[in-house]
Amino acid sequence: MAQPLARDVAEEVAKLHGVCIRPFAFRQIDTHTGKSKIVDVPCGTTMEAKCPPCAKRNRQLRMAQCREGWHLDQEPVITPDEPTEEQRWLVEFRADMQARRDGAAAEDQDTADLDAVLDGLDAEINQAGMRGSVLGRATSKRNRSTKRRQDAPDLPKRKMANTTLGRTFDAPDGKTFRPSLFVTLTLPSYGKVRDGSPIDPDAYDYRRAARDALHFSKLVDRFVQNLRRVAGYDIQYFATVEPQKRLAPHLHMAIRGTLPRAEIKQIAAATYHQVWWPPTDEPLDHTPVWDETAGYLNPATGEVLPTWDEALDQIDEPQHVIRFGDQVDIKGVLSGTHDADQCIRYLSKYLTKSLGEDLAGRQDHSDRFVEALRYEPCSPTCPNWLRYGVQPKNAKQGMSPGRCRSKAHKPEHLGYAGRRVLVSRKWSNKTLTEHKQDRRTWVLQALGQPDEPTDPGRYIWRPIKTGDPDLDPIRVRLLRSVAKRLQWRAHLRDLEARNLSATGEAA
Ligand SMILES: [Zn+2]
Ligand SMILES: [Zn+2]
Repeated sequence: MAQPLARDVAEEVAKLHGVCIRPFAFRQIDTHTGKSKIVDVPCGTTMEAKCPPCAKRNRQLRMAQCREGWHLDQEPVITPDEPTEEQRWLVEFRADMQARRDGAAAEDQDTADLDAVLDGLDAEINQAGMRGSVLGRATSKRNRSTKRRQDAPDLPKRKMANTTLGRTFDAPDGKTFRPSLFVTLTLPSYGKVRDGSPIDPDAYDYRRAARDALHFSKLVDRFVQNLRRVAGYDIQYFATVEPQKRLAPHLHMAIRGTLPRAEIKQIAAATYHQVWWPPTDEPLDHTPVWDETAGYLNPATGEVLPTWDEALDQIDEPQHVIRFGDQVDIKGVLSGTHDADQCIRYLSKYLTKSLGEDLAGRQDHSDRFVEALRYEPCSPTCPNWLRYGVQPKNAKQGMSPGRCRSKAHKPEHLGYAGRRVLVSRKWSNKTLTEHKQDRRTWVLQALGQPDEPTDPGRYIWRPIKTGDPDLDPIRVRLLRSVAKRLQWRAHLRDLEARNLSATGEAA
């Protein structure tokens, strides 16, 4: 009797055909017919290490999004849509995945995979403009004294024009040029490096590198604010955060429209972000202990530690100030040129890799970086605050400094827990979901099938647990998906051939 195909062989076959190798199984219940079937939903990860086919698809989608927005020549119209079925499904799916992740974390299991799924879902939901409204993630703003406000840097300020488009230039022959920018911003030096590793690791400022990575996304926000203020129009951008060889995050940014290089440099130099957190220079000698009524207290003195809000009220200087490094690359790019294509490929080059991947020869550097991150507070709720004598926000029993589970501390994230792709709201006039929809519509049209919206309430989706007797082994499911894809490809080819011969006859 033939041996059943091993899982890894089935995976290889699936990869060859662009089929997701870690699908999630759902039971789709059709409320019109009462029938139900099991459907494999692609994992949708952006990380090649988890699922190469999904990562590749995501990268291509991002490239399409980048291309469509960069040299837009008409003002985008943003109309908030009612959540579609897909969006609603995404949010429900996210809730399920979050529950599963929390369950795994409570049992001290590795949650890296589920974290990646959640990231992917967050990015999509965010793109669909649903954050806040559906997920209800309101952020409360604290009133700071005037002293603590982020100072506006000393930069020229133009009057704001109500446009997102850059200026154009007309050549004498009547041709219109639409120049745009490609900007790369890096963090400062923490010590000399060779091939990505510090020459003198003991002199390398790991603490600063760790703090800069933790707050990098805030610095990028400030840069965009300053950019818009100086440019005098609602500048749009598509940016990616990628790892440098020395393991610090850096930013590639496609900007619609153009500004003088000197101004961009001036903005980068003047941009900074202050972190108004309690000081973290002196750790306590003893690990705080939990008291049911009082919260955390210092076991040596019996004193109750200040709560997060109390500690914030006592701050008189920022815990950290972050700025960009001197190295700023600025390139002018014209729409539709080979140059523009190359930049788009470059922008998305590392999107499928995590920040701490491909460590050849830099393991020691990476270990030191992770060690430096271990006791840095990553957020107001980080258990590491206990080490510095402050109760974390929402303090609860069982918190222990140096054991924060947030992804910022993990080797694959190296302090940067934010989104890897940052797209401004009026970039391509479309959400990522709409870009996806474009592709779906194209395929359905090619297949000669109607692209009708389904009744939003028609299907009910229920996640299926591994081990469910109705669920076939993963190798069977993968090969079934491959077979489906092959069928579908053959059908497309067939149609193409028929179309070709039809146009041939007409000509
Ligand atoms: Zn996948
Ligand atoms: Zn943390």
